[in-house]
Amino acid sequence: MVYDVAILGATGIVGQRYVSFLSKHPWFNLVKIAASDKKVGMTYGSAVSWFIEEPMPSEIVNLKISRADPQEFKGVDIVFSALPTEIAKEIEMKFVKNGFTIFSDTSPYRMDPNIPLIIPEINYTHLELIKFLPNKMGGILVKSPNCTSNVFSLSLKPLLNSVKEIKLINVVSLQAISGAGYTGLYSMSIHDNIIPYIKNEEEKLTTEPRKILGRLDNDKIILNDILIEATTTRVPVMDGHTVVVHALVEKQVNPDEIIKSYEEFSSIPQQLNLPTAPKKPIILRKENDRPQPRIDKNVEKGMAITVGRLRFYTTEKMSIIKYVATGHNTIRGASGNTILNAELAVALGYLKK
Ligand code: NAP
Repeated sequence: MVYDVAILGATGIVGQRYVSFLSKHPWFNLVKIAASDKKVGMTYGSAVSWFIEEPMPSEIVNLKISRADPQEFKGVDIVFSALPTEIAKEIEMKFVKNGFTIFSDTSPYRMDPNIPLIIPEINYTHLELIKFLPNKMGGILVKSPNCTSNVFSLSLKPLLNSVKEIKLINVVSLQAISGAGYTGLYSMSIHDNIIPYIKNEEEKLTTEPRKILGRLDNDKIILNDILIEATTTRVPVMDGHTVVVHALVEKQVNPDEIIKSYEEFSSIPQQLNLPTAPKKPIILRKENDRPQPRIDKNVEKGMAITVGRLRFYTTEKMSIIKYVATGHNTIRGASGNTILNAELAVALGYLKK
């Protein structure tokens, strides 16, 4: 069965990745796109500054840009949202109240306990919240985490599968320029530089993983009580967010068990062989100089993250586990994760046509 889908924010950095991923998708047929009012009525080809390596899919070049208004999207089964944060809250809720199903990359409502915040390889069971949403809100809203939270949470999962007694996790991010959006940063401020603060990012990185790793309690999510400390920085890298992680554990750990947990990590998107699922969601590298965003961001078409520099300091009473992880922020950290969420919701029978 084929679902008609649409993109809000289709001309932006994340929106362009959606266009690229949805082109020739076996289940999803892209029928509508929206951008800001100044581009309404223009063809996609004339409205966008295309920056993706592959050519713009030919079937979208002449597709006309619509207003981001539910009245213009009648008959669309799934709407993907890559709207700017400031307007996403109002526009997405307008669609949901009109009965639409929205899969979104934006931050509003991510921490609402009623709304699923999903990384399909980690908390696919939280998709069950979808069943309650039409009665509560009129339609369905499913969120993807912040791009750095995504890479960070996914990188943690094999460790948490293997070690339960983690006392504190410290994470430092090195985030790419594209994470700030198409018009987000002046080249003069990021060239030859590191910016040691990104507004609102540390809050996201310390709370979103706690919801993703949280517990489903009937129609809401109870946060995991894991303690996370974060510092977020912007670095002169085009695509690919990196996190440096230290986890403190109050016992002696077995390094071999943890390494095995990373090497064997796989989950339901892989078992179901979903169209956008990477064969291996986490690649563990043993070289001292990996991961590197430039050479590792596109592994598995940008849908896998790479973990490396996995090191252990361990005594009888405590251990510190250290690693570095990299993932593509606009693919695994945004559009790719969100399309995979929609595929999983379809495969699990939550989205009827
Ligand atoms: P972006 O490059 O600035 O793109 C914004 C998009 O929204 C453009 O298509 C823009 O259209 C459209 N837009 C702007 N104002 C609008 C309005 N008033 N009504 C309707 N559409 C409007 O931003 P981005 O980096 O793609 O990010 C999009 C969202 O994804 C944000 O919420 C961001 O936080 C989130 N996100 C981004 C990343 C990342 O790595 N970049 C990762 C995860 C999540 P015009 O071309 O007409 O201006």
